[in-house]
Amino acid sequence: MKILVVNAGSSSLKYQLFDMDNEEMLAKGLVERIGISGSRLKQTVGEKRHRVEMPMQDHVEASKQMLNALTDPENGALTSIDEIDAVGHRVLHGGADFTKSTRIDEECLEAIEANIPFGPLHNPANLMGIRACQMVMPAVPMVAAFDTSFHQTMPPKAFLYGVPYKYYKDYKIRRYGFHGTSHRYISKRAAEFLGKNIEELNIITCHLGNGSSMCAVERGKCVDTSMGLTPLEGVLMGTRSGNVDPAVLQFIMNTDGLNPDEMLQMLNKQSGLLGISGISSDMRDVEDAAAKGNHQAQMAIDMLIHGIKKYVGAYAAIMGGADAIVFTGGIGENSPELREQVIDGLDYMGAAIDPDKNCVRGVECDISAKDSRVKVLIIPTNEELVIARDTLAIIKGLKPEA
Ligand code: AMP
Repeated sequence: MKILVVNAGSSSLKYQLFDMDNEEMLAKGLVERIGISGSRLKQTVGEKRHRVEMPMQDHVEASKQMLNALTDPENGALTSIDEIDAVGHRVLHGGADFTKSTRIDEECLEAIEANIPFGPLHNPANLMGIRACQMVMPAVPMVAAFDTSFHQTMPPKAFLYGVPYKYYKDYKIRRYGFHGTSHRYISKRAAEFLGKNIEELNIITCHLGNGSSMCAVERGKCVDTSMGLTPLEGVLMGTRSGNVDPAVLQFIMNTDGLNPDEMLQMLNKQSGLLGISGISSDMRDVEDAAAKGNHQAQMAIDMLIHGIKKYVGAYAAIMGGADAIVFTGGIGENSPELREQVIDGLDYMGAAIDPDKNCVRGVECDISAKDSRVKVLIIPTNEELVIARDTLAIIKGLKPEA
């Protein structure tokens, strides 16, 4: 069985093709600058690199080029598009409507559309990607995997905001959480890695990348997470602010004469590591600058670590302790310095790392100190594989895992 996984952005389309007989990734590609000048496609199949530069005015054209690249006689991975058994789409926001991945039908498309107000940048793009794929592969079954679904086990005390209840009742204003596919994968994988049943474990998962979120996974179920109604809440991110007292927004809006959209744009695009360091949203640049003595860069890193630590403490408190802390994402997998500082001082809750074991990047491993009661793990995330597995399960008529 061959499954194509698609992640459509407003001007991009990422894809991976899997052979699900052995879960091997056969091809990986990216179409960029859709609808603007300089559209291009890059694809990797094993050692083979394929690059196409041509105008692509919309996602339908991008999807056609994706299929052309996948079936390219020299650099492709398929002899015919008929080999694609199903397509799994990453969708940002499923609201509270979806607790699992689901077969795409009219009702599902309407729900994705209905959740556009909570995912105004991503949901329309995800929909465009789905519709484009449906046009170029009309007979192929499609599945949607939502970033929000894993978190829908949160109890109301964790997902409600302290604003008048009518905003939840009438408008569904609440915490939804994101990166759910990643938190689900790494918590399950952590349990497998430790040779334990996930239902016996309390796990704190740290997905730290350009966007970052934390999750408390109690016996396999999410009981709290740091992102909220949108992916803006929580710890400091590349360009997103994370938590801010709303009164700060009023002050900035009054001072700089910003309207709400401009304010939100600032919080989403000009804040976080970039806004504090004044250097970059990329952790590598910020770490380099800090190493050269840049004070603001160091401050940005310190803020990120401080924020992560607070969530670790909070989630240990609500779950009555933790059995494992798991790091993933570009920063979580690749920054030994950050991991060391996050865990530093957590001996009170039984967590300590071995500095030698921690000197690794991007490999699945246990970095706990010998006597650490809490296991500290690095588990590289693989959201595409989870989406491919869900898609396979659904088209085979099985239920995707919770
Ligand atoms: P992601 O969104 O998961 O792809 O993660 C992107 C983030 O990971 C960026 O901030 C990168 O700077 C960061 N990152 C990638 N490699 C490293 C590394 N070797 N050390 C520190 N941060 C890294």
